[in-house]
Parts: sequence; C-alpha cells; structure tokens
Amino acid sequence: MTTGCCGGNGETLIFTCAGAAYAGQVANRSAVQLMEHGAGNLFCTAALAAGIDQKLDRARQAARRVAIDGCEDHCTRKVLEKAQLTVDVHVVLTDLGIEKKPARPRMIDDARKVVESVKAKLDAAPPAGTCRGGR
Ligand code: SF4
Repeated sequence: MTTGCCGGNGETLIFTCAGAAYAGQVANRSAVQLMEHGAGNLFCTAALAAGIDQKLDRARQAARRVAIDGCEDHCTRKVLEKAQLTVDVHVVLTDLGIEKKPARPRMIDDARKVVESVKAKLDAAPPAGTCRGGR
C-alpha cells in the first residue's frame, strides 16, 4: 500500500470500470496488476455507484484515487465524481491506443501499457501532505 505521512489514511485506491468490452476487461486486469505491484488497493467502483456508506467513507479518506476507464465514456471517473470524490490519476485505455473491441486482442501487452502509464502518473502526483525529505 502506498502511504503518505500527513492527513487521511495515506491510502491509494484504484478504481476500474471492468466493462464488458475488451478495453474494460484490460482495465480491470491492469488494476489487479497495479495492486499486486503495491501501487495501491483495488476498490469497488460498483459499491460507490450503489451508494454503500462504508465504502464511500473509505473512499473519502483515501490520499489518492486512481480511475481507470476502458474508453471515452469515462464511467469510472463519472461514478467517482457523482460521489463527490476527486480523481487524482485518470487513465483511459483508448487514449493509450488500446481499442475498445480490437480485431487482434493482446491482453498481456495492453495491460502492461496501462500499468506503466498509471505508475508514471502516480509518481508525478504524490499524496497531498507527503513529506519529501527534511525532518
Ligand atoms: S468506460 Fe467504456 S469500457 Fe468502461 S464500462 Fe464505460 S463504456 Fe464500458
């Protein structure tokens, strides 16, 4: 788990659309890989859409929220914003050149591309209040 030293619970939460389209399925696989790599904790996007209080409370306390969307419909980002939650890192697979319904799917390579993109954006967006050296 990613942690910061100040404010919230220091947690980075990863939300993904997990849509039925190929791009949505790659988004979900990428999110699982990011959790396995220690980039953050995978969280239930559908629970936010359903308004589950306990899930909303934990999502509010997160230091950073990552939204991974399969396509330009941005379903994950919209679910978070409807719940009044800011998105710190947003990655859209079709923006990375991954087709929503490709003729020749390449799940492993495409998921790797998403993982690298999210990691680079997380490195560029440390949690608010993170101490950088010094005391
Ligand atoms: S963002 Fe695109 S792929 Fe994901 S659930 Fe929405 S329509 Fe489906």
